[in-house]
Amino acid sequence: MRMKTLEAHVNQLMATRPWLRERRYYPFSCFLRAAFGCKVHKVTIHAGFTCPNRDGRVGVGGCIYCVNASFSHPAKGPMKPIREQVAVGTRFMRERYGAEKFIAYFQAFSNTYADVSTLKARYDEALSVDKDIVGLSIGTRPDCVPDEVLDLVQSYTERYHVWLEYGIQSVHDRTLRIINRGHSLATFEDAIRRTKGRGIRICAHVILGLPGETWDDMMQTAEVVCGLGVDGIKIHHLYVAKDTPLAERHARGEVPTFTVEEYVPLAADFLERISPDIAVQRLVGDTHGGLLVAPIWPKSKPEVFAAIERELARRDSCQGARCQHVEVASAPRPATVSAATNGTTARHESACV
Ligand code: SF4
Repeated sequence: MRMKTLEAHVNQLMATRPWLRERRYYPFSCFLRAAFGCKVHKVTIHAGFTCPNRDGRVGVGGCIYCVNASFSHPAKGPMKPIREQVAVGTRFMRERYGAEKFIAYFQAFSNTYADVSTLKARYDEALSVDKDIVGLSIGTRPDCVPDEVLDLVQSYTERYHVWLEYGIQSVHDRTLRIINRGHSLATFEDAIRRTKGRGIRICAHVILGLPGETWDDMMQTAEVVCGLGVDGIKIHHLYVAKDTPLAERHARGEVPTFTVEEYVPLAADFLERISPDIAVQRLVGDTHGGLLVAPIWPKSKPEVFAAIERELARRDSCQGARCQHVEVASAPRPATVSAATNGTTARHESACV
């Protein structure tokens, strides 16, 4: 896109999506605020599932970076009853962040990897704990969603705001083999195709800095994932957790990680190439439990968010500036959020606070 065209494009995006003027990208908090008119937070749950890439059905050992306790706090230590996890989580979110409504987030391992009756019992248990739970978000792999599971997840869309979060990490099959994902891009495309049209929102998980990937590879991931029409995205930098195959390769000097100075412009590049209507659910990785080996950054998460926003502002740019899949004049996505909200009246406004 030529410079003058780019400037006009960014101005048009900002005119139709006011939060881009303020934040330069589309944070999930803005999406939820516009959809529900109040503060909505996720409550993370470890529901006791495993993963076909660990139990032998697809593979053993899992993805080369996988330590669930490093990215899902409830996965650390013995599993507590779902009811207790949700009660503790909602209380904490109310007291710490002033949250008013909640999304039950099944985070650890593959949360559609069981028979339908087991899944239903666990989802129902979480949703029944608190009247202020308005949503259900389920993290899983794209090879774990047979149609009968999608039918079950779809059934919750009548009363709840529902997301399926698919790990893809990269659209390049050679990278997926290197990281031992145990599925291909075609599997992800098939899952997206079968999920769409059911009232279920789709979030894709992507990692920047996977072994062997170039800048072009990562930007291609942005373009392909966006082109598949996802509603949300989680991106983070590759980090190395203790006791993983990735840690061994990192110790041998085979896998470098980004400095924060390298990651900030890269994240901005990625955001420029995805639709401005994709809600960004994560921009930076987070590790729990003292499991982080590298990179150790001197900045906090909010400081990295702010640095990415500053980088986009410095470029006079924003999310979607270089995206080919955007209808500039179309109404912003929050105005179309009309899914059942469990008693909450959605306020269709652009406030992003
Ligand atoms: S799909 Fe998730 S739970 Fe399974 S091995 Fe990979 S990172 Fe771990």
